[in-house]
Amino acid sequence: MNPYPIGTPGVAWGADERTQWRSRQRKLRSFADDVEARIQRLAIRFDVEEYGRLDYPPDHYPLLALRRRDTSDDRPWVLVTGGVHGYETSGVHGALQFLEQRAAEYTKDINLLAVPCVSPWAYERVQRWNANAVDPNRSFKEGTAAAESAALLKLIAPLRGRILLHVDLHETTDSDESEFRPALAARDGKPFEPGLIPDGFYLVDDSENPQLEFQRAIIEAVARVTHIAPADDKNEIIGSPLVAPGVIDYPLRELGLCAGITGARYTTTTEVYPDSPRATPEQCNAAQVAAVCSAIEFLLQKA
Ligand SMILES: [Zn+2]
Repeated sequence: MNPYPIGTPGVAWGADERTQWRSRQRKLRSFADDVEARIQRLAIRFDVEEYGRLDYPPDHYPLLALRRRDTSDDRPWVLVTGGVHGYETSGVHGALQFLEQRAAEYTKDINLLAVPCVSPWAYERVQRWNANAVDPNRSFKEGTAAAESAALLKLIAPLRGRILLHVDLHETTDSDESEFRPALAARDGKPFEPGLIPDGFYLVDDSENPQLEFQRAIIEAVARVTHIAPADDKNEIIGSPLVAPGVIDYPLRELGLCAGITGARYTTTTEVYPDSPRATPEQCNAAQVAAVCSAIEFLLQKA
């Protein structure tokens, strides 16, 4: 395998390598057209708020959240996030589709806060990292270097302890193995260890707060839309042992992952596989929507 085209193998990147990396990123799609316009159309039904701005000159992006009108302390808070990794398209479009098509069924029972695209610069460049070659999804920590993560932490801070459900929408893609994991190893001066990309949908639970009944309910709902990832011959998915069919777990807070920011009783990270020959983009979006709806239905049955 060829070495990653930036930096010296075995040496962690400095500022020069990060600048070089950024200069290679091209704008491939429009946040304003694909995402912001759809969010603004939803302003007839939700309060749309700009909870921060990203300044990566010459580019500037509003960070946008949608909130149920007339929230009430009688209803549980639900947080839906997408696009923490900008390249994971169905996370962004699935969140928007949920808001457009299904959210109205639930808003009488819940206070909904949704952030469809946490990382707009990366959405436009189909990238995992932000403009400074930082992964927002390892950066949800106090004093974080990622502006995307800092802004989201600040948005939810007044609701911490009141959010009962958080669904964070992601994908696992072939480009993880061909580009993003090699880039990560190069950036950190580590050797790249090849891995396997699972064919199908899976979930990541919180090992510090396992909620298997909840995860199983989501897997059951998503299985009606798209296929669930099988375990590999070590009974693992991407190097983690299965804790239930289609479910692995991580210590979310320790790793600074988005699904750990609320301390909610029920949290999950969806992982849709868009590169499967057996899945269309429409199915991937539908899988994200099914995951969100089934998670809310589970919560409402428990409440
Ligand atoms: Zn992701």
